[in-house]
This record gives sequence, structure tokens and C-alpha cells, in this order.
Amino acid sequence: MKQSKLFPKTKKEAPRDAMAVNHKLLVRGGFINQLMAGSWTLLPLGWRVVCKITQIIREEMNSISAQEVLMPLMHPKEIWNETGRWDSAAEVMYKLKDSREKEFALSFTHEEIVLDLVRKYLQSYVDLPIKIYHFSTKFRNEPRATSGILRGREFLMKDLYSLHATKEDFLKYYEEVSEAYLRAFSRLGLKIILTEAAGGVFTQNRTREFQVVASVGEDTIYVCNKCNAGFNKEIFKGKHGDQCPKCKGILEERRAIEVGNIFPFDTYYSEKMGVYFTDKAGAKKPVWFGSYGIGITRVLGAIVEIFHDEKGIIWPKQVSPFAVHLIQIENTKKVKTASEKLYKEFIKQNIEVLYDDRIDKTAGEKFMDADLIGVPLRIVVSERSLAKNSFELKQRSDNQKTELVKTVKILAKLKSLKIL
Ligand code: ATP
Ligand code: MG
Repeated sequence: MKQSKLFPKTKKEAPRDAMAVNHKLLVRGGFINQLMAGSWTLLPLGWRVVCKITQIIREEMNSISAQEVLMPLMHPKEIWNETGRWDSAAEVMYKLKDSREKEFALSFTHEEIVLDLVRKYLQSYVDLPIKIYHFSTKFRNEPRATSGILRGREFLMKDLYSLHATKEDFLKYYEEVSEAYLRAFSRLGLKIILTEAAGGVFTQNRTREFQVVASVGEDTIYVCNKCNAGFNKEIFKGKHGDQCPKCKGILEERRAIEVGNIFPFDTYYSEKMGVYFTDKAGAKKPVWFGSYGIGITRVLGAIVEIFHDEKGIIWPKQVSPFAVHLIQIENTKKVKTASEKLYKEFIKQNIEVLYDDRIDKTAGEKFMDADLIGVPLRIVVSERSLAKNSFELKQRSDNQKTELVKTVKILAKLKSLKIL
């Protein structure tokens, strides 16, 4: 991608109402744009990151034999009435009427929709288990949508639903999902505190939250300094400095961002919606049911909260919008030709490259933009380096160091950095 063509340009100033780091940096860098409170456009750079996040999570979901689908976002009132959530979850739901006065809800989650889908097919235990997930938009009437992309009124979620014939099979899968989540978050560069929590409008059962410690987080959790277990303040009867209920460690109070949550519903919703199957002995049984969410756009914001400095974002390589930021700092023929040639070579080698080919920017402006956008590896082409038959290489995470790499060795170098 040539930076001269990239939409939109970066901004020097953050929006005046932006408090959170993710809000400031993602808007300034041209990753996201706000339509209204809690509602964001993912711009080309932001969308690239979201696609990487999505792909990592998709791979981990597929690895636990879940199957991807895509379910509707507008739901008929009748289905939500079956569980009583049309009324009990009214606070978070956006509802609408069409011109014929028929009522709908915009999706804030999909449990009812999945159960309705499955009961059209489910007959006996041989049809189970069923594990389906999708990436889609959720709408929630959030009272305070002020922490940038961390809390939207419209946001992207990955939600997985699983249905099982027995409690044992369900609990086993619940643990498998938990493990898959830990693998996904670790690949995304996030350090997770597995946290025991309450289920809100979803369930009376305890749920398991995936929390990332960060000062901007809206949750307060207690984290054990020894076994790393977490307890959400909403349910926990204890305080900072208490002994961990699971080991001899000490609990420390922290702010954290909830990036994922897994819910054991047992047979509660299936019974309400009449989702039964015949077991081996011919008896009618309600299915065991769980749902498992990850906030995709919230992960985008959480990564920025963790990986940044005063100059901008520092993307972990695996989610960076580009692998390499190629910067041509002078507009002389020699520098231009060498940069173009390298750009074409990178494209040929399938290396994702952002090429700063702009002729109306100074070197200083280009470096400032590169620091803000945060691609982990920068390659600078200048008269000075070309005079030594070299390019300058710099890691975004490394404040000072630049390394000269011979032009003929550049691909080998990228190979050693695992970019090629
Ligand atoms: P919170 O307590 O932050 O409101 P929640 O418990 O309501 O979250 P879930 O219903 O479990 O969230 O949704 C699954 C995941 O979706 C959450 O773990 C979070 O990562 C994400 N999520 C929830 N609400 C929002 C939101 N308003 N904006 C962005 N992501 C969200
Ligand atoms: Mg919520």
C-alpha cells in the first residue's frame, strides 16, 4: 500500500473529548472514526488489524471443532419473549418497530437465536454436540460509552455457542474453550487473568472472564500475586491484601479490561425454549448449553492500551496492519528508484508493506507518522544509506537503535526476523 493513497491522513491532535489512550491513538493514526457516541467506523488500517485479530481467533475456534456461521442481526420479538429477556434485558436492547408495527430487537447476543435454529434440526443424541460461532455486530444500549473503542453501542464480537447431550460433555468442552481462549489471547499478545465473575443478565451461574490488567479498564478485580487467579469485585467478598482463596498468595486490587467471557447456562435456556432431544434410553432431555464471547473491537483497543508509548502505537507483529513500513525520506531519483524497487520486491514476496512515498512530507513528519501508526519494523531508504549500499532498519519497540543492512541482504534479514 502506498501511503500517498491511504485513506485517511493521520491527525496531529486527538479529539477534544478523548480520554482513553486507545481513543486518542487510534483516531490520530487513522484506524477508527467516531460516528456518534459508541459507534465507530473501522478505517482501512483499523480493519486490517481487526482482520488479523479475527483470523487468530477463527483458527483457535476451528481447532476445537467449532463451525463458523453468520446469523441475522434483527430478531423477532416472539423469540426473545420465550425466555423473558424481551423484558428482563430491555435495558441493554435496542428495539424497533417496522411500518406495520411489528416489533424487533437488534442483536445484543444470540442465545435465543441459536436455540431456535437448533431446535429445527435436533432430534436425538446422535445430533449432538453442536458447536457454532460467528463474528458479527452486537448492539447494546450502554450508559457510558466513553472509553474509546473499548465500549461501543455497536461493536464486533465473536460468539460461540455449544450444545451437548450430557453435563460431562458440556463441562469438558467448557474447559476446552477456556484453553482455546488462552491460546488465542496469548497469540494476540495479551496477558490474561482468568477471573471468576457473576453472569449479569445472562445467568445465575458464575462465569469465567478473561481480563487484561490496564488502568483504563472498567472492571475492578483481585489478582493473586502467586497463582494469578482473578476475582471480580462484583462478586468477591474480600479486599486488597487478603489471602487468595485458591493458594497462599496475596490478592492485589487492579483495574482490568474484560476481553472475553464464557457462560455455563446448563439447561436453563433450553428448557425455556423447549430444546429437547431423545437420549440413548429414549427419554426426552433438555440440551446442555453454553455461550462464549470475545470482544473483537475491544481487543483492538486493549492491545493499544498495552502496547504504546508517548509517540504512538507499537503493534505486536501478529496483528500489525503491515509487516514493514518502508520510508523513502528523500525525493531524489536514486532514493525513489531504490524504494520503488524494494516495494515491488516486497509485494512479489507477499510481504505486507506500507510504503511512505509521499513527496510533500519531511523526513521528520514521516517518522512521526510511522511512530504513531506503529508498524513494528521500519526500513528507511536515504542517500546516506544507499551510499553504503544499505538500508536502515529500525524496530518500533527499540527507541534508538538503527541497523544498516546491505541492500542485497534485505530479504535474508526479513527471513531471520520471521517476516518472510
Ligand atoms: P461488560 O461487563 O464490559 O459490559 P459484558 O459482560 O456485558 O461486558 P459479554 O456479554 O460477556 O460482555 O460479551 C462478551 C464480550 O464482548 C465481552 O467480554 C467484551 O469483550 C465484549 N463486549 C461487551 N460489551 C461490549 C461493548 N459495549 N463494547 C465492546 N465490546 C464489548
Ligand atoms: Mg455489558
